[in-house]
Amino acid sequence: MRVQRLGERGLIQRIRRRVGGVTPGVSAGIGDDAAVLQPTPGAWLLATTDLVIEDVHFRRRSAGPADIGWKAMAVNLSDIAAMGGAPRFALVALACPEETEVEEIDLFYEGLTAAAAPHGVAVVGGDTAASPGGWIVNVTLLGEMTGAPRLRSGARPGDVIAVVGTLGRSAAGLAVLEAGRRPNLPADVLDDVAQAHLRPVARVAEGKWLGTRDGVHAMIDLSDGLATDLGHIATESGVAARVDLTCLPVAASARAVAEVLGLDPLELAARGGEDYELLFTAQRSAAEAIATGLRSATGVPVTLIGEISAGNPGVDFIDAAGRAVDVGQGYEHFHG
Ligand SMILES: [Mg+2]
Repeated sequence: MRVQRLGERGLIQRIRRRVGGVTPGVSAGIGDDAAVLQPTPGAWLLATTDLVIEDVHFRRRSAGPADIGWKAMAVNLSDIAAMGGAPRFALVALACPEETEVEEIDLFYEGLTAAAAPHGVAVVGGDTAASPGGWIVNVTLLGEMTGAPRLRSGARPGDVIAVVGTLGRSAAGLAVLEAGRRPNLPADVLDDVAQAHLRPVARVAEGKWLGTRDGVHAMIDLSDGLATDLGHIATESGVAARVDLTCLPVAASARAVAEVLGLDPLELAARGGEDYELLFTAQRSAAEAIATGLRSATGVPVTLIGEISAGNPGVDFIDAAGRAVDVGQGYEHFHG
């Protein structure tokens, strides 16, 4: 059935049945003029929002409705994680063509709630509209934390720069999806990179854990690429960042894809975006304990990739020979 036959009220009832339910902290959710929420007393409220637009952020050729829903939630979870916070309440706005099948919208919410459920996030409201073009999704996510949020402006000279997890899988996945032919690689490698691109997993537990460590000074999630995102920390903190390219934790699957498609694995890792890993700076004396502590708490590795110093804000990438390398910038909207 097409959504135009169901109508907006019917669609909202359907969504409410799917994502509604009793959740702690939600006094009134979907169905009233505004949601009524009870934050934890004394906690900071964190708020973030992200637009996901067809043919800008995804293509329907490669991303199904459940993938779109998953990613729209995951990118917001990642932003709350990057502050060190816990995600709690989501508002979801969806515009799609009126000839969209209702089952596709069901799948969209299935993907979205599958990403949100492990973190106890409740969908408490939103909006729906017919779109004259493709799909447009906007998720607003509220989170909270009791300690000090980790800001981009917190990096200090002498800090080490560290990355949680591995880099390059999402950019490798995008390259595979856009290649138009199936690269000659094992299915598990292709799956790994495609999943990383279509269904990124936000580092929520890792961000929360890092948010409780005094030695963690600044944090950001890697959405636009290491070069761009570390650049934000350098700019906001007024410091220089130096990254040793030989230290980058390039995923094995990304290396395999790079080799077959003739791409530079370091470029996938340093410039390719949407890994949704966390990057943080930490006091040097605390860094080893933070790395081993996070690994034993969550099973996810931490790699030290460089250091912060006083100097002109910017990021230098240094290769194996000690030379500065231009890896270019990551993705930027409104960039002519
Ligand atoms: Mg971010």
